[in-house]
Amino acid sequence: MNDFKRRGNNITHQDKRAKLLIVDDNKQNIEMLMELFRGEYKTVAARNAQRALKVAFSDTPPDIILTDILMPEIDGYEFCAKLKENPRTRQIPIIFVTAVSEVMDESRGFALGAVDYITKPFHPPMVKARVQLHLNLRRKQELLENFAFIDALTEIPNRRRFDEVMEREWHRAARTGYPVSLMIIDIDHFKLYNDNYGHGRGDDCLRSVAGTMARSFRRAGDFVARYGGEEFAVVLPDTPALQAKDTAHNILDAVDALAIPHETSPVAPHVTISIGIATMTPDVEKRDQDPGRLIDKADKKLYEAKSRGRHTIAD
Ligand code: GH3
Ligand code: MG
Ligand code: MG
Repeated sequence: MNDFKRRGNNITHQDKRAKLLIVDDNKQNIEMLMELFRGEYKTVAARNAQRALKVAFSDTPPDIILTDILMPEIDGYEFCAKLKENPRTRQIPIIFVTAVSEVMDESRGFALGAVDYITKPFHPPMVKARVQLHLNLRRKQELLENFAFIDALTEIPNRRRFDEVMEREWHRAARTGYPVSLMIIDIDHFKLYNDNYGHGRGDDCLRSVAGTMARSFRRAGDFVARYGGEEFAVVLPDTPALQAKDTAHNILDAVDALAIPHETSPVAPHVTISIGIATMTPDVEKRDQDPGRLIDKADKKLYEAKSRGRHTIAD
């Protein structure tokens, strides 16, 4: 979950209104649409596609775009195609705004991925309803997409999301030159727990441990996922080894503090975890594209923690 909230987390008073980008080379058209949506949405205008692309690729991209088609240099079609090419902007709904007098090839726009056409002169309630409709559709789609990345039992991100986040952070680290730390965490003697208390209590235990880990982070970018059965993975961006070890201690202690009874565990009278940590900085020169090495190393460290008697951290 923590990953979804990441963008813009440091802003205290967030403007929750949707952001609407209006692209038109005609100033009057822009003013008319701005006036129509004022107050309801955050509106941003661009007089040409080049400027609109800058807004779309910024850190605060629009939630929906209304664009004219006939514009000098880059026209609406080409603008749309450029947005669809990039994974960062691909999902933004685009509505074409055309004049009835213009002969338009509507199928071309839809083929490029536009969601709708609005014709000038505007009927304001209709324009508003269309924009609202497409914003709602996009939100629902986003919700569904996120469900595919959430583990149903623990309600924390799943392995698929982990793979995505790991790769993204690895590439980011390759650009920035900062280290990335990874922990692989495994519940100790969980088979014995299930055998003694039953699978249902085992599931409850997994939920508690997952929730506790997700709440134990101090930094917004830290991320935990269910990696497999009773295994979890924690990604710590921009985090050197020493700091990662601190976080690992916090997590180990937080799970101890849950004090979930485990009377058949040879390690402790309660549920405990073992943690393997690895820290690396991707080698930019060697075109180090694959976080696999980091994962392997954290895995080996986990094995080491297990063989050292469990309920411990290996780094
Ligand atoms: P170790 O300390 O070496 O990790 O021992 P362990 O018993 O935890 O490890 P092992 O791999 O032998 O057993 C893992 C157990 O986790 C077996 C499996 O039934 C249980 N498990 C995996 N996923 C789930 C789940 O979703 N729910 C429940 N209740 N148990 C699960
Ligand atoms: Mg285990
Ligand atoms: Mg295991």
